Amino acid sequence: MPIFPEKYRLLGWLSLLLLLGFVSTSLVSYMSSRDYIRKNIAENSLPLTSDNIYSEIQKDILRPVFISSLMAHDTFVRDWLLAGEPDQAAIVRYLAEVKKKYGTVTSFLVSNQSGHYYYADGLLKTVSEDEKRDTWFFRVRQMKEDYETNVDIDMANHDTITIFINHRVQDYDGNFIGATGVGLTLDSMSRLIETYQARFNRVIYFTNTEGRVMLAGKSLSQNRGFLRGIPGLGELEGQILNHDAAPTQLSYESAGGRVLVSSRFIPELGWYLVVEQSETEDMQPVQRVLLLNIAVAVAITALVLLIAWLAVRRYQARLERMAAHDALTGCLNRQAFEIVFQSFVREAQRSRKPLSAILFDIDHFKAINDDAGHLVGDAVLRTLAHLVEGSLRDSDVVARWGGEEFMVLLPDCALEQALALAENLRVRLEHHDFSIGRPVTASLAVAQATAGEDESAFFCRLDDALYRAKTAGRNRVEEALPADSLP
Ligand code: GH3
Ligand code: MG
Ligand code: MG
Repeated sequence: MPIFPEKYRLLGWLSLLLLLGFVSTSLVSYMSSRDYIRKNIAENSLPLTSDNIYSEIQKDILRPVFISSLMAHDTFVRDWLLAGEPDQAAIVRYLAEVKKKYGTVTSFLVSNQSGHYYYADGLLKTVSEDEKRDTWFFRVRQMKEDYETNVDIDMANHDTITIFINHRVQDYDGNFIGATGVGLTLDSMSRLIETYQARFNRVIYFTNTEGRVMLAGKSLSQNRGFLRGIPGLGELEGQILNHDAAPTQLSYESAGGRVLVSSRFIPELGWYLVVEQSETEDMQPVQRVLLLNIAVAVAITALVLLIAWLAVRRYQARLERMAAHDALTGCLNRQAFEIVFQSFVREAQRSRKPLSAILFDIDHFKAINDDAGHLVGDAVLRTLAHLVEGSLRDSDVVARWGGEEFMVLLPDCALEQALALAENLRVRLEHHDFSIGRPVTASLAVAQATAGEDESAFFCRLDDALYRAKTAGRNRVEEALPADSLP
């Protein structure tokens, strides 16, 4: 079965081609824009955010590191430790001053000799190798580096999670005599992340090496536990926790669309910094353009179709008219007449109404042609056809039967009326001024079709009557003999 019905095939293919062309170019341009945006987010926006945050972190950590370094190199602190921690109030005052002056959440000093842990409010405790919470101190004691950053619970501060800068304190010969430093709560880091999220419109969080979300903006911290628990992101866990300090670019599909991810290891924290950005927002303008393009494509296709359809319809109507009508007179041609005649016969049989016909031929037309010329002859034919058509009902039909012979078909018209009409026509023609210096007359034959009469027999009767009209002197109406009187 064809896709489009015959009549609309051309229009169907035309619209299909137009739409296909428009939509494919729109889609291609959409896809290239989308790829460009994706590439831009992955290669520029996210690494840049990650770099910015990293440098902010470094900046934020740098200050406490600097303070810790000052404390560790302070001769007062070192002398005090070397002197065997003589006046505890003095070191407590010192630590309180540091805390107050630099606005840190905590400041501390642990003596290697006594294991005493001092902070801004006094002596907190004595560190012990068996205490899990104190392992950091023994790690720092062994460590080659001057300091470490450590995320831990701060006992001196109601057990809040704190980032400590643990700095080694050495005597003047380089021997380890204690650890000192300051702590920052993650609250201030959280606020920092909030600011970044608001500023860069991205989701930012830190995970530890096990993939646990350690630090995130307020909106996120409650919802996220482990990376592996986040739909879509879970599968990327292995790629995120890759110990690579250079940014890793990844992406996953979430309910809200594709999310691009950049992750990097931050050695200062021992954590991964993960920055996520949904491409949806950046993609919206491109999607709007795509929809607009498709709407324009549909509108243009519809317009082109309408224009094409109107043109085809007009052309088709003209062709149909040309095929059915005589070019000179505008009357039906003989082929079309045959079809009309058969349908009129059927209709007459169905409705049991009479059907009559008039066949007429112009008298001495050859002479008109010869005397006035062929073109004048043509004009006479046109005028005559016009005159005849003007004398008939809308339901009547005139056909050009031959050169200057015409057939008039009269549905729902009995012989008597047909004879009267023929006489009327004869008189009208005779008295019409054709502007050729002489009257134009015609000889007419009239017949009513009888039930079951053969088509050729009917026309034969008419021909016969016309012949009689001619031979009887022309310019007259002759009634065809009844069907059963024919030989
Ligand atoms: P009659 O009274 O016996 O009918 O005489 P007539 O001269 O009309 O004879 P006939 O019907 O045989 O002649 C038809 C003439 O009509 C011959 C032909 O040249 C002319 N004719 C036929 N078609 C056309 C036409 O389209 N234009 C013109 N100008 N003349 C035509
Ligand atoms: Mg004639
Ligand atoms: Mg003739």
